[in-house]
Amino acid sequence: MAGRCKWCGDDMEVFLPYARLGLCKSHFKYYVVRRVKRTIERYGMIKPRERVLVALSGGKDSLVLLHVLSTMNESNDPKISLKCEVEAVTLDLGIRGYSEGCVETARAYCEKLGVPHHAVKMVELAGFTMDDVASRRGRPVCSVCGVVKRHFLNKVGVEMGFDRLATGHNLDDEAAVIFSNYLSANVEFLSRQSPILPSREGMISRIKPLFEISERETMIYAQFQGLTPIDRGCPYAIDPSTHRFKMVLNVLEKEMPATKIRMVRGFLERVKPLLERDGTTPLRKCAMCGYPSPSEICSFCRLRKNYGPM
Ligand code: SF4
Ligand SMILES: [Zn+2]
Ligand SMILES: [Zn+2]
Repeated sequence: MAGRCKWCGDDMEVFLPYARLGLCKSHFKYYVVRRVKRTIERYGMIKPRERVLVALSGGKDSLVLLHVLSTMNESNDPKISLKCEVEAVTLDLGIRGYSEGCVETARAYCEKLGVPHHAVKMVELAGFTMDDVASRRGRPVCSVCGVVKRHFLNKVGVEMGFDRLATGHNLDDEAAVIFSNYLSANVEFLSRQSPILPSREGMISRIKPLFEISERETMIYAQFQGLTPIDRGCPYAIDPSTHRFKMVLNVLEKEMPATKIRMVRGFLERVKPLLERDGTTPLRKCAMCGYPSPSEICSFCRLRKNYGPM
């Protein structure tokens, strides 16, 4: 790639149109960590010495998240340093030919970084696996999977006494979710959408430290750091809608760089406060498991009635 790094004058390896910034390999890696640190500070996501549990699926984004948090932990450079206690958890969803690889990738990676790793089996916690769900007709597998993951990652985080549960959602994920819910005017969902959710009784604070880093940036960061995510895709990954919204946003981003970040920040700074002011359904305790829920029975307990134990 022709051009020079704006920070050191070496060969440019990456150009970021939204920031009109060209960087060499090592400054790009530093830039990503610094931006994540700024996001964490701006939104008060992690305070020094807090215990952070990273949801590590073995995919690219969660590996990048763990790498960035470990880098911050080890650094003494005040621009990127953040001393906190980081551990990781992988939920074994029981998807034959896929989940074993996820757990192994995550375990090996944690060992390499010296980060404590916890693997928990869905079948032991729920009494059924995602393969069981897929073998029955009903709700789309991914929508069940989302509910299951939210429920058990929260449960593990709360029971192990962590302060935060960090997930690897990136800017493209956030922009696509906001965009699709704008289009369907799903006000209730939008009012709950946030890169940081505070803790409350029975619920750990959930954070998305990569939400201002684009898919392209996480991909390049993973490549530059030599991170090797699981090489297989999930056999149930067939939901095309999010992918379509991402494609549309990519077209807009190409024509008008910074569209995604402007959209997500605009939502958080100007739209979300209005939705919150107008009030949303308050959370109460699920009558079956006691976890916070907008309805009498939480979505996980409704699932459990349908699917398990098998
Ligand atoms: S693709 Fe769907 S089923 Fe597979 S891990 Fe992701 S959410 Fe779960
Ligand atoms: Zn440089
Ligand atoms: Zn419940």
